[in-house]
Amino acid sequence: MEQAKTNLPALDADEILAGVIKWVEIESPSHDGRAVNGMVNQVESEARTMGLEIDRTPGRDGFGDILICRTPWGGDGPGILVLSHLDTVHPIGMKETKNPIRREGDKVYGPGIYDMKAGAYIAQHAMRHLIREGKQTPLPVTFMYIPEEEIGSPTSKAMIAEEGKKNKYVLVTEPAREGGKIVTARNGRLQYTIHVKGISAHAGARHMDGHSAIREMAHIILKLEALTDYAKEQTCSVGIISGGTLTNVIPEDCHISVDFRIPNMEAAKDVMAFVEGLEPEDKGCTLTIVGGIDRPPYDKFEGITKLFDHAKACAAEIGFELQDLKTGGGSDGNFTAALGIPTLDGLGADGHGAHGKDEFIYYSSLVERCRLMIRLMETLE
Ligand SMILES: [Zn+2]
Repeated sequence: MEQAKTNLPALDADEILAGVIKWVEIESPSHDGRAVNGMVNQVESEARTMGLEIDRTPGRDGFGDILICRTPWGGDGPGILVLSHLDTVHPIGMKETKNPIRREGDKVYGPGIYDMKAGAYIAQHAMRHLIREGKQTPLPVTFMYIPEEEIGSPTSKAMIAEEGKKNKYVLVTEPAREGGKIVTARNGRLQYTIHVKGISAHAGARHMDGHSAIREMAHIILKLEALTDYAKEQTCSVGIISGGTLTNVIPEDCHISVDFRIPNMEAAKDVMAFVEGLEPEDKGCTLTIVGGIDRPPYDKFEGITKLFDHAKACAAEIGFELQDLKTGGGSDGNFTAALGIPTLDGLGADGHGAHGKDEFIYYSSLVERCRLMIRLMETLE
C-alpha cells in the first residue's frame, strides 16, 4: 500500500508557489489591456498544456480578453464554474519598488499575489493535479478568467451571468479572509452620478440672479450621506465631486459620484427610490441622476448554505475547520449569487493586505486550499 502511494503525484507547496510567482511576475493592472493579456496568454498556454478547451473573447474598451477554459469531459451539462480575475489594482513596477516579490518566513509578498493571482493559480493547479492522477470530475468544470474585475467587470458582467446560468455551482477564487474563512455573502453596490444644473451669474453684482449648483449639491450630499446606517450594513460615500469655474461666478454645474453598499435587495430598492426621487430645493436648479445597481447583493440562500456545508465536510476530511463570513466588498460572485446559483467565494489563498502595498499570502495555506478545491471538484455532483 505504501509502495503504491509513492507513485501518486504529490501536491507540492513549492511547485504551487513557483506557479503563483510566475503569475505575479506578469503585472496586470485592470486598465492596461495589453498587460492583462500577458496574463491571459500565460493562463491560456498552461490550460492548453493541460488539455483544456479554450474559448477566448477579445477584450473591448481597452480591457483585456475574457478567457474560458473547459474540461474536455462532461459535455455541455451544467457543471462547476470557477471564477477568477487576472487583473490587479497595482500599477506596473510595484514588483520592483513598493512590494518586491519575496518570501519572509511563511509570508510571500508581491503585487496582486493575495488578490488574486494565488487563488486563480490554486484552482488551476487543482485541475492539473486531478489530470495527473488520471481522474475526471463528475461534473464538467469551466474556468472563467475576468480581465477587469477590480473596476467592476464592466465588459464581462453579462458574460459572467451567461456562463453562471449554464452551471450548477460557482466557486470564486477571491482571497480567504481572517484566517482562512470563505465568503458566503457580500453586500451589493449601487453607483450613481448626479449632475446639478444651476444658473450662473456674477457672484457680486448679480448674485440674486444666480442659482448655485454647488449649494444645491451640498444639500443633496448631506441627504445621501445620511443614508449610512452601520447597524443595517448600509453605507453611502460621495467619493468624487467637481463643479464651478471661478470664485466670482455663481456655479452653473456640479457633479458627484456616489457609492452605496447595501445588505439586500430590499434595502437596494429603498435607496434607489430615494436617490431617483430626489428633487431640487432650489427650483432654479435641475437634476440629472444616472446609475443603479453595479453589483447586486449576494445573500446566503439555502443553496449556498448546502454548498458551504459540503465544503465544510471536505475541509474536515482534509483536517481543518472551514468557517464562513459575510463581507462588505463586492466580487464577480455577486452576479452569480444574485441569479440564484449556489456560489462560494473566498476560496483563494489565506493572507492579508488586499489592494495594499504590503499584500502577502501565507505559504502554509497553499496546499490546504488546493486540496479543498480538488475535493470540491471531485465531489460536487
Ligand atoms: Zn479580487
